[in-house]
Amino acid sequence: MARIFSEFDLIRKIKKYHNTSNPAVLCSIGDDAAVFTIPQNEKIVITTDLFVEESHFRKDFSSFYDIGYKVMAANLSDIAAMGATPHYAFISIAIPKEYTEESILELYQGISDIGKQFNTTLLGGDTTLAPSQMALNVALVGSALEEELLYRSGAHPEDLICTTKSLGDSYAGLQLLLHPPESITEPFAKLITKHLRPTPHVHEGRFLAKSNFVTACIDISDGLSGDIGHLAIASNVGVHLFENQLPISEELKFFTHTQHASSTQFSLTGGEEYGLLFTISPNKLEELQKKYLETFGTSFWVIGKITPIPSDRLFTKIDGSVCSFENTGWDHFSDKNK
Ligand code: ADP
Ligand code: MG
Repeated sequence: MARIFSEFDLIRKIKKYHNTSNPAVLCSIGDDAAVFTIPQNEKIVITTDLFVEESHFRKDFSSFYDIGYKVMAANLSDIAAMGATPHYAFISIAIPKEYTEESILELYQGISDIGKQFNTTLLGGDTTLAPSQMALNVALVGSALEEELLYRSGAHPEDLICTTKSLGDSYAGLQLLLHPPESITEPFAKLITKHLRPTPHVHEGRFLAKSNFVTACIDISDGLSGDIGHLAIASNVGVHLFENQLPISEELKFFTHTQHASSTQFSLTGGEEYGLLFTISPNKLEELQKKYLETFGTSFWVIGKITPIPSDRLFTKIDGSVCSFENTGWDHFSDKNK
């Protein structure tokens, strides 16, 4: 089928998703490159992510709006994990011939709606033809003061490991989309929304960055057991997690109960949460908890602590026994340290 819209027309329509009122933007969509300034004295923070149909998203259960929303959420989450403020997005897209212009604009609506929530404007991109499946690249520019930036390295032995989101909901939502039950009750609908339209913790990231208390930070995209491993390797430390401290939502409890599944497994290995995982010194906990509660009206969770032995991947179960976990997840649990 021949394409029924032109690249030129599409870019003209995409342009409306750029917020032109920002004085920091000197030139955006329509020239050969974009020109902008970032706040004085701040360092530029850039992240980019490539999403490919079937590997990263599926059109059978995600709308184009959902796809746009989620790819931006994933990038915003990376900026959040650095403690930075997001500013500008660049979207490059390879579109198969048979896709309609309407569906691409719906995708941009999703990108634009979540972008606006976090003051992030589309500034450009590239458009090309794909042989069969869609591919989408998002590049996001943010900034932060050098002393506020958060890195994966920097965690010390005895630091507490904390998370800003309950864990495992997104993965439960995916299971519900893959194996739809006869009826979607309210808790199930909430889990599905968490999978399709995750909220990146941009404000939480800025709060943590400004607190000056955080020693290391990463966002949860691959799942707790994998991502805490990345942080541990970057910081050259080990990890000890506690099952009785894992934050599990009422919705996830309900879901795993109906499925006779383990909520612990979901919370340890479920990806695409886009909450933040961070470490702090134990003597800063009380002050940070208090300020966090005042700012967000909710608390973060302490789920473990950092150990001095880099190979440690310890997990204390509810019954008090200790086992080790692999960075890849719960399925590889062994009882060798029991
Ligand atoms: P060039 O041929 O020089 O790459 P393009 O025609 O691709 O120029 O792009 C023209 C303008 O449209 C540029 O400002 C570019 O950033 C913008 N643009 C192109 N494709 C997209 C897209 N998919 N999303 C946002 N902006 C785009
Ligand atoms: Mg181009």
